[in-house]
Amino acid sequence: MINVLMFGPPGSGKGTQSVTLAEKYNFLHLSTGDMLRAELAAATELGKKMEAIMAAGELVPDDVVIAMIAHKIDTTTGRAGFVFDGFPRTVEQAEALEKMLEKRKMKIDLMLVLEVNDAELMDRMQKRAMVSGRADDADEAVINNRIAVYRAKTEPVIEYGRRAGVARIVNGVGTIDQIFARLCNHIETVL
Ligand code: AMP
Repeated sequence: MINVLMFGPPGSGKGTQSVTLAEKYNFLHLSTGDMLRAELAAATELGKKMEAIMAAGELVPDDVVIAMIAHKIDTTTGRAGFVFDGFPRTVEQAEALEKMLEKRKMKIDLMLVLEVNDAELMDRMQKRAMVSGRADDADEAVINNRIAVYRAKTEPVIEYGRRAGVARIVNGVGTIDQIFARLCNHIETVL
């Protein structure tokens, strides 16, 4: 099983690229953002508790997303690996993931970091807001907060990946196909 972490700030194209990579390599696409939005849409107890945090662009508690990921890993069969999208977002989540994988005789094989400058991110997110219907895409202050949270809490995870020797920096500016090809080149090295 190959475990790929898709990394990058909000609006960097992680979601779009993860879906296509998962299809190409028969990986399961695990997006904690999608899982949380599904809880919100189904108005579960958990969803109701997380709604305000997500609307503000803050991170939900580590234990919530760690439990979601553990459940998915344990209930998946028939896949060649996982592509993690939007998880881990803190060093604590990264450590929990590493332990979780170790217990199951797996490891993090690759961390792909999409690099996109802030002006381009803001532009993409505002365009996405018109089609995504996501409340957290529609408000400039919330977008700015999500980028700030990424820089403060999530970027340190890249250092964690560097130390583990799995981080690869990928230029996230270009056409979707160009970026996809760059990502595939890295994945081919660990297959
Ligand atoms: P995303 O779709 O990945 O941009 O996530 C949307 C929102 O869900 C984030 O702004 C957070 O509020 C929450 N979220 C998603 N993944 C995580 C995570 N791994 N840790 C904490 N909060 C998360």
